[in-house]
Amino acid sequence: MTESFKKLIESLEALPSIGKKTARRIVFYLLKKRELAEKIANGIKEVMEKVRFCSVCGGITEEDPCKICRDEKREKKICVVEDPMDIPVIEQTGVYHGYYHVLGGVISPVDGIGPEDLRIDELMERLEGMEEVIIATNPTAEGEATAIYLTHRLKEKGIKVTRIARGLPPGSSIDLADSITLSRALEGRKEL
Ligand SMILES: [Zn+2]
Repeated sequence: MTESFKKLIESLEALPSIGKKTARRIVFYLLKKRELAEKIANGIKEVMEKVRFCSVCGGITEEDPCKICRDEKREKKICVVEDPMDIPVIEQTGVYHGYYHVLGGVISPVDGIGPEDLRIDELMERLEGMEEVIIATNPTAEGEATAIYLTHRLKEKGIKVTRIARGLPPGSSIDLADSITLSRALEGRKEL
């Protein structure tokens, strides 16, 4: 095995849910599919050059602040999500017309993730002029615990807090929910 070959396998192995075996299989496959390999390499380079996180909401964007944050016509609501990829999924439902805020994870003592590791202070600084905060963390134990924590913090500020309805199966995630289920969960949100 050559040095460069080994190095590529090692970098792929650092990705979530890719083990040594899969990494080796991918590299062998790419050696046979050179065109695809080039496409992936260029794609990574382009995304790394152009795409960044929005400094306001934490979503993925090519311009900072992002299009949603710059849109003054949106409803004065903030939907709090775990992951940047949850934003396009909720946008696709077409039932929500407010702003977003990405936490960048959930509170998880087992993984050593506390509130200070999430973008919660940034959220607190965005509340002025807002009418409602909708908590759309995933229906997992950590997602629920994070929702409870956020509710305490937000209620101190006197803002209306709602949680998306339990239409989503427990343990599932926003980004895997189908559009109809997610629309219902958003529309059926309850005040906390
Ligand atoms: Zn933004």
